[in-house]
Amino acid sequence: MNLKDPISRLPMVGPIYAKRLEKLRIATIEDLLFHFPFRYDDFSVISQIGSVQAGEIITVRGIVEKISNSYTKTGKKIQKAEIVDSSGKIEAIWFNQPYLSKTIKTGEKYNFSGKADWFGHLKVLVSPEFEMIKPSPQIFLLSYLANIHTGRLVPVYNEIYGVSSKWLRSRIKIALEDLGEKIEEFLPEEILKKEGLISEKEAILQIHFPENKPTAEKAVNRLAFDELFLIQLAGLLRKKEWQEKVLREPFFVDQEKLLQFTGSLPFSLTNAQKRCLREILTDLEKPIPANRLLQGDVGSGKTVVAAAAAYVAFLNGKQTLFMAPTEILANQHYATLKTLLEPLGVPIELVTGSCKQNIKNGIVVGTHALLYQDFSSKNVGLVIVDEQHRFGVEQRLMLYQKGLNPHFLTMTATPIPRTIALTLFGDLDLSVIDEMPEGRLRVKTWVVPKEKRTKAYGWIKERIKDTPEQAFIVCPLIEESETLSTVRAATREFETLSKVVFPDLRLGLLHGRIKSKEKEKVLSKFKAGELDILVATPVVEVGIDVPNATIMVIEAADRFGLAQLHQLRGRVGRSNRQSYCFLFTENETPLVVERLKALEKTNIGMELSEIDLKLRGPGEIYGTRQHGLPDLRMASFSNLDLIQKTRRQAEALLATDLSALTANSPLKNRLQKYKIEAINN
Ligand code: ADP
Ligand code: MG
Repeated sequence: MNLKDPISRLPMVGPIYAKRLEKLRIATIEDLLFHFPFRYDDFSVISQIGSVQAGEIITVRGIVEKISNSYTKTGKKIQKAEIVDSSGKIEAIWFNQPYLSKTIKTGEKYNFSGKADWFGHLKVLVSPEFEMIKPSPQIFLLSYLANIHTGRLVPVYNEIYGVSSKWLRSRIKIALEDLGEKIEEFLPEEILKKEGLISEKEAILQIHFPENKPTAEKAVNRLAFDELFLIQLAGLLRKKEWQEKVLREPFFVDQEKLLQFTGSLPFSLTNAQKRCLREILTDLEKPIPANRLLQGDVGSGKTVVAAAAAYVAFLNGKQTLFMAPTEILANQHYATLKTLLEPLGVPIELVTGSCKQNIKNGIVVGTHALLYQDFSSKNVGLVIVDEQHRFGVEQRLMLYQKGLNPHFLTMTATPIPRTIALTLFGDLDLSVIDEMPEGRLRVKTWVVPKEKRTKAYGWIKERIKDTPEQAFIVCPLIEESETLSTVRAATREFETLSKVVFPDLRLGLLHGRIKSKEKEKVLSKFKAGELDILVATPVVEVGIDVPNATIMVIEAADRFGLAQLHQLRGRVGRSNRQSYCFLFTENETPLVVERLKALEKTNIGMELSEIDLKLRGPGEIYGTRQHGLPDLRMASFSNLDLIQKTRRQAEALLATDLSALTANSPLKNRLQKYKIEAINN
């Protein structure tokens, strides 16, 4: 057996389980070993039966004297086992698991781990885990893995239907016994020493079956180091590779024409927009392809800055690809760019579905499906990516493979602190629009409890009936991606709102399962003021620009992260009219309400992400994929210290020891694996 073998080669894993494991992204035995627990049950205290106290979580070790099936007074099936050690006797009970009377053998010695509690006037163990104690072999690894479900820190995994933690534990044990020795170290010896890290082999063993809490912590440290180190090393290598591709014709920036463009706008650029634009243009004048992240809060005006860059590309006879995460957003960017740039003679084309682009310069707008097109023109000079996962890494890779190396500009509203952005994304430069256009009023925000809902509806009706003002109503977030149940919930909500709550207003519905033609129709009606209220699922709305929309209602607001709520709120307050945001929630937990109330207090994305970090812990705010950051399993984006440490080590490695990166070296292989995972995620 080998680590790279398909999981079905592992003993006791058949085709049915192999299929189920696909859902956990486990295809090989190695994948299984890299499926880490998210917590441990602490069953490490082994108690004498005679001294067990109710309420304790413990392990007892004894002989099973009797096991029986019977019924409770209410008719439930109950299983009872009598366990004896030298200090006394205790009963373990389970409910509705009649097979246990066959599985557990009387006269044998077992561990039972779980909670001791009162059952009537009897002290018992309630539904404990159990495991027969076998004579343990004297080999270190094997003796150490003798018990895996009881009497130790017991790992608990992410489970899916039909794959329990218990099942995973026993298979991981087999894999470790057979292949644990084959886990190859990929970090250079020097780094291990300098950072005081345990070997990877040891880390994998300890993360699953830790000897104690400190060794579990050491394992987490090592694996978190790996994760951040690989992200950084991959980033630095991309930068190196990319920068070696010198451009033959750097752009020329025609200041006069540029002034013509900014002069044609109905507003003047904010200082922050001007600064960011200058930074971008300086990139474009260089002979190496730029890779810049343009960060700015919702409504800060990123699009117009990007449009100016696209104009410069056009003036240099080059094509710009402008990519949005959804078709709706692509449509909107298309409309905006048309207004901004068509008067200056820039051809703009929208490419959706399978239709082919045919312009040679100017701007092609679409979703990232654009990249799957066959490029007859090699004239792409600039790529602009709006709000995409991993800041365009995949997009760049794909173009690169087609022999294209244009300038890259990625836009995001995700409030990643500057230090983190700069250290973690070693191949990116950063520009931040940290100022809002003048005259913008703060969006007044209220958390609305259940009993005030009717009043809020009344207020909204008053506000939008027979006025130019309009409202969004965002349906509850049910899952991360838009599933059928989310769509159903939205449809139901729409029915109630249009028939019961707002029968005399005009409502439209938008969700991911609506055909794109229909979507476009609903949206343009809303934009034209022919609808008063747009009911939408949480996934479709991001980035919609409708200046007359002044009211944002978010249903079940407690299900969203603050950063997401802030993004949603950013759909209103896009003009000089006063805007309002209602956060509906039926959740009365003080911590939840406190978190939502943060939105009443501040309008600044970065502050909100810091509050989220404090109240919900790291991972939660950055965890959502749509915000563009890679998913971290062991490390956290708030661990700046580790981010910097790994960055230094990755830089040092590239500066001094390239031998660690030769083809087929363990490090190179691991980087390859990381890259494949990054793309598949
Ligand atoms: P985002 O950064 O969220 O993508 P947009 O680019 O969509 O923001 O801009 C939001 C709105 O602000 C648009 O309607 C845009 O025309 C307007 N806008 C952009 N820059 C300015 C400015 N300097 N002054 C006034 N309005 C502006
Ligand atoms: Mg935008």
